[in-house]
Amino acid sequence: MIGERIQQARKASGLSLRALAEKAGISAMAISKYENNQSIPSSGVILNIAKALGVRTEYFFRHVSVELENVNHREHEKLPQKEELKVRADVTEQLERWMMLEKFQPAPWSKPFELPADLHEQISDYDEIEDIATRVRKYWNLGLNPVPDLIDMLETKGIKVFITKYDGHKNFNGLSATVNDAPVIVVGKHWTGDRQRFTLAHELGHLVLRGRLSSLLDEENACHRFAGAFIAPKDMVKAALGERRTWLEPQELMLLKHEWGLSMQAWSYRAHNLGITSKEAHKEIWRSYLQKWKKEQREPDPQVPQEKTRLFAQLVYRALAEDMISESKAAELMGMPLFEFHACRMLKCPVETEQESKSAAAKGFNTKSAVSQHKVKRNARTGKSELTKKKRA
Ligand SMILES: [Zn+2]
Repeated sequence: MIGERIQQARKASGLSLRALAEKAGISAMAISKYENNQSIPSSGVILNIAKALGVRTEYFFRHVSVELENVNHREHEKLPQKEELKVRADVTEQLERWMMLEKFQPAPWSKPFELPADLHEQISDYDEIEDIATRVRKYWNLGLNPVPDLIDMLETKGIKVFITKYDGHKNFNGLSATVNDAPVIVVGKHWTGDRQRFTLAHELGHLVLRGRLSSLLDEENACHRFAGAFIAPKDMVKAALGERRTWLEPQELMLLKHEWGLSMQAWSYRAHNLGITSKEAHKEIWRSYLQKWKKEQREPDPQVPQEKTRLFAQLVYRALAEDMISESKAAELMGMPLFEFHACRMLKCPVETEQESKSAAAKGFNTKSAVSQHKVKRNARTGKSELTKKKRA
């Protein structure tokens, strides 16, 4: 029903009835009636509401509807309910577009999510998690080296990954959930790359460890341990740091951070958890430099580049190329106005400004920056819009 859709989009944008009424030039009472399906808006009104909410009018008529299940937050996050609603509405909207795209795909976009069959059924010690992380890496043919693009890797393993601009005023890192039994991971857009990667791996931890932890273990701590062990496996940490250390230099951790995409703080925990540094040395390292950066929620520059989602946009263009969808359907799937999509298709995406980024994210559209980057690269190399097929140019 259109009422629920209007309400969902309004909540996703964080607008009150009154604020939407003002933006759309309609009374709050009228909007309330639309939301409760007590009256039906005319097409002109729908257009105004869509503009005010930064969504396309098709959004209100979509038939797919999805529900996030088994939601796990990173940490015991104190996310106010209003903020949580925004995150959920944004992710739900992105998921709906995924589901729509899947309907046009003749073949599945990846193999189903699978874990090794021989994982421990009951884990009663945090140290066992080291082995679990290594087994998952091995099963997924990742070897032991750094994983450069974590989102891309998770997507190829059958996990849908979404980036949301909502960070609940820096209280939201990410979450994992399932939709029709398929895994979903969400990560905040504004965090640094190493923080996003830790969140992604932590959420993977929830998917892997669920139902395996003894009651003696705290699931959040277990997932933190999994995240560190998955990003930087035990043997590689020992190779990098040595078996025993009395002190870790900040610049040493900075170099390792950039090699592995794992924060300096997480590296200090890796060293401590693996018995490389003593409790005293660990404390001293924190007291002398890490503590301060944790409080500021940011380690010194340079930062690890942020993670991007690419798969969704790539599949949209692939479906378009093979005439499985029209250009207007492709624009709808990407959550973009047609003219903007057409420009992107011609590799003339507008460069994303902060403002655009905000409005794009409000639409739940986060693939744009990946596309723009792609365009910049391609443009420099190939010149103009040579890549688009002539017949549809
Ligand atoms: Zn968690």
